[in-house]
Amino acid sequence: MKVHSSFAIASMFLLLSTAHVAAQGKPNLVLVVADDLGYADVGFHGSEDVLTPHIDRIAREGVMFSSGYVSFSVCSPSRAGFLTGRYGQRFGYERNVLYYPTDAGMGMSREEETMADILGRAGYRSMLVGKWHLGAHPSLQPQARGFSEFYGFLGGGHQYFPDSLRIVDPMKVFTEEGSYRTLLNRGTQPVTETEYITDAFSREAVAFIDRNRSNPFFLYLAYNAPHNPLQAPPAYLERYSHIKDQKRRNYAAMVSAMDDGVGRVLAKLRETGLDKNTLVVFISDNGGPLADNGSSNGSLRGKKGGLYEGGIRVPFAMRWPEKIPTGKVYDRPVITFDILATILGGIPDAPRPKQAIDGVDLIPFLTGKAKNAPHPYLFWRQYDQRSYAVIRSDQKKMLLRADTASLFDLGADRSETRDLAQEKKSVVRKLRRKISAWEKELKPPSFLGLTQRAEYIRAQSAIKK
Ligand code: CA
Repeated sequence: MKVHSSFAIASMFLLLSTAHVAAQGKPNLVLVVADDLGYADVGFHGSEDVLTPHIDRIAREGVMFSSGYVSFSVCSPSRAGFLTGRYGQRFGYERNVLYYPTDAGMGMSREEETMADILGRAGYRSMLVGKWHLGAHPSLQPQARGFSEFYGFLGGGHQYFPDSLRIVDPMKVFTEEGSYRTLLNRGTQPVTETEYITDAFSREAVAFIDRNRSNPFFLYLAYNAPHNPLQAPPAYLERYSHIKDQKRRNYAAMVSAMDDGVGRVLAKLRETGLDKNTLVVFISDNGGPLADNGSSNGSLRGKKGGLYEGGIRVPFAMRWPEKIPTGKVYDRPVITFDILATILGGIPDAPRPKQAIDGVDLIPFLTGKAKNAPHPYLFWRQYDQRSYAVIRSDQKKMLLRADTASLFDLGADRSETRDLAQEKKSVVRKLRRKISAWEKELKPPSFLGLTQRAEYIRAQSAIKK
């Protein structure tokens, strides 16, 4: 009996230490996404009125990307990009989805793997906390796309106060406005929440880390703050009594709630001893929409929805003490696809994505091992507007709208005020050729989006008849 029990104890110890070694070998990933946060509205970009001390810690103790881009300037396709590590245009994803839970085609193609699918093959547990916005049909929901757990909502935004969440069944809603008022889901089950939802998402994120301390995990913490509607509780508003503009004050308070949540997540990582081996990334999903929510893109031209820098260049920072430097500013263009490639770069015997990804492992670039630029070119297409952009590694940027080219040198003129297209015709010609070559790899949009709602509803009723 004694022999058996010591054997059992020894095996248990072996199992535990194997789990520990495995967990140590595989880094965790925490991806925090803000929704519609302006480029200038974080402390690490010099914000003086909106305060983000916790988010700033990620940049201060890691790397701040001054030229960090998203692959699309609105929510849904931007998320499809970074969750697959691929240009969404490769699989027809370049519109904001409509909330339509009976349509299996309204969302991200099931041919595509998500980060959660890929990391799941390496034994990661994954959780989405917050906003999904990649399809509400059961076959398109987070737990059908590789996530082990989900707490949040399926649409493009949400009411923040629990008293406003009155619609019990998110599967019986067919309008955006209705989708904002559904109960939150835990997995596929609607549940009653009692907290301000930004605080609720922080609570869920911390609890997920707590119960996954001994296995590798991917936490996708997708706050809907500070996306409309502008709703903030008094405790956060009180911090900003000096801001007279009410919209800006509400916006700042919503950002603070999110920033406090980031603080709770970072504190939990430190408490559990996981912080050194965890890649923490902070991004906004697109540029600030300015007047719509009171955001600021500072000196950048343009806003959410467009291809000037104010639409696509976002706050972007990562912290990973075991792998990347501390307190570094990296100026060369990077894009959110790189998040997937970078975490895979840090996993021994990492699983290979089934589709070729467009991201680059940033670790060698940040440590100085690789001297070149991570991306020779970055591309954008907005099919409905017939507009394109390309940024070359030397920060020459061409915009094409209705076939008219503008050329900017972002290194010298990041506000895009001096159009060099007439002066530098050969650069324009070269960049046009690059865009044409890239476009040959793309598909047309695979679903109608938010701006085609009327057309979509007509098509749906025709199908029913
Ligand atoms: Ca957004």
